[in-house]
Amino acid sequence: MANDCIFCKIVAREIPSNFLYEDDYFIVIKDINPHAPIHLLIIPKIHIRSINDLKEQDKELVGNMFLVAKKMAKEQGVNESGYKVGFNVEKGGGQEIFHLHLHLLGGWKK
Ligand code: AMP
Ligand code: ZN
Repeated sequence: MANDCIFCKIVAREIPSNFLYEDDYFIVIKDINPHAPIHLLIIPKIHIRSINDLKEQDKELVGNMFLVAKKMAKEQGVNESGYKVGFNVEKGGGQEIFHLHLHLLGGWKK
């Protein structure tokens, strides 16, 4: 766990949060400042700073992040209406929390 990383603290349950999903590798929470009617964060339990820090060994983890996103989209009922998934990378890319996370946004009115 990285010192002073808010997502590591959420994963460790040091900061209270409501997990919409949890398995051995990920948690999913609602974004505290949503940019869409549905805005979830898929967060790996291990601390990786950003896409820039991914290693060969993380391939499976990253692939599985998208499968969790797919599952959550279905659970939230936006799989057919459509949604966006994406990573902000480093400050210039809008990243504010330097612990890898995948945004899932959807639920806009048609
Ligand atoms: P990023 O800008 O890609 O680093 O995204 C970080 C996201 O985390 C932002 O959309 C914040 O609104 C969100 N966020 C920050 N703190 C929390 C928290 N305690 N619980 C849920 N979401 C958070
Ligand atoms: Zn962390």
